[in-house]
Amino acid sequence: MITSPTTGVLASMGAHGHEQVVHGFDPATGLRAIVAIHSTALGPALGGTRIRPYETEEEALADVLRLSEAMSLKAAAAGLDLGGGKAVIIGDPATVKTPELLVAFGHLVDGLCGRYITAEDVGTTVEDMRLIRKATPWVTGLPRDEGGSGDPSPLTARGVLAAMRAVAEHLWSTPSLRGRKVALQGVGKVGGALLDLLLGAGVEVVISDLDAGAARRAAAAAPGVRVVDPDEILAGPCDILAPCALGGILDDRTIPRLRCSAIVGSANNQLAREDHADALAARGILYAPDFVVNAGGIINIAVELEPGGYVPEEAVRRVDRIFENMRNVLERAAASGVTPAAAATALARERIARARHEDTGERP
Ligand code: NAD
Repeated sequence: MITSPTTGVLASMGAHGHEQVVHGFDPATGLRAIVAIHSTALGPALGGTRIRPYETEEEALADVLRLSEAMSLKAAAAGLDLGGGKAVIIGDPATVKTPELLVAFGHLVDGLCGRYITAEDVGTTVEDMRLIRKATPWVTGLPRDEGGSGDPSPLTARGVLAAMRAVAEHLWSTPSLRGRKVALQGVGKVGGALLDLLLGAGVEVVISDLDAGAARRAAAAAPGVRVVDPDEILAGPCDILAPCALGGILDDRTIPRLRCSAIVGSANNQLAREDHADALAARGILYAPDFVVNAGGIINIAVELEPGGYVPEEAVRRVDRIFENMRNVLERAAASGVTPAAAATALARERIARARHEDTGERP
């Protein structure tokens, strides 16, 4: 009898405490999917569906396990009664994504009877969610005209601003950002909305985007904003660096070049490795953990899931609480002499462990 597996899917699940992993295969549509439920201790596991041409099944499994755990931490740190989950579909979205495949995927999600709720992610769109909904009600992120919460980006940006204010209060004893300089990497859906909010708050902003046209358009609409090359944005002197493009940008190569006091941005998984939080602290740079900063999107979706449905004013009110969440994380980090990233992870894990304890009587 297997008691404690050391290899295979069960061993990978055991390493980070995942509850359930479900594989879906449908030869008729070519569906090859994995759904990972990290935790349902706080509520149903929420997380998007990513479609990517993973080279191997192992790579897809590693990604879905990592992403679903991150969703648990994000929801728990935001104080939501939601767990963490994620789904991946193996394949290039440009070729594998057909209406039939999405409906087949919807049946897979439906079989989990609400333990997992899906949403958009890399490679999926609002339109895809509509198709998945043909097979299951366990879908969020639907358009506003269908009672959904719509594009979360504006509220994600609002949450980033709230986190920046808490960081400003911590570093400079005032939550005001007036006169501060922010270097904004990426002016896409979140970065573009954040740019407007920062200018409204009296901030001097320098922007960059790999898409030169996007940077030019953003600057044209916002006089006074300077555009710099993508290579320069990380190394320029500023008060706050706001990574709003891709993850993994804080690594052994970039950290020594930074000239900011703090990092507060929406990008997921900004640290290439967990220990880069220590490297930033050693350089005297305050790294605001991304999963606390960018929780506006999931907070917005959580409102959609409530019995009364989506109420925009309520979503705004709750997203603004990211200010208190971040303040709490910074205070706890300072009190216990750990990085904000470690403090936020500990807070989230404690909340999940307490809920598990209440559910099962298990020792937290
Ligand atoms: P997006 O694709 O709309 O925008 C990203 C922008 O970054 C694009 O304009 C792209 O050209 C640019 N970019 C990519 N690499 C760059 C680089 N090296 N330098 C400069 N610019 C670069 O994406 P988004 O929805 O705005 O999301 C931004 C980040 O925030 C992503 O990491 C996403 O996972 C995260 N996030 C988004 C939300 C949301 O509500 N949209 C919620 C939570 C987290």
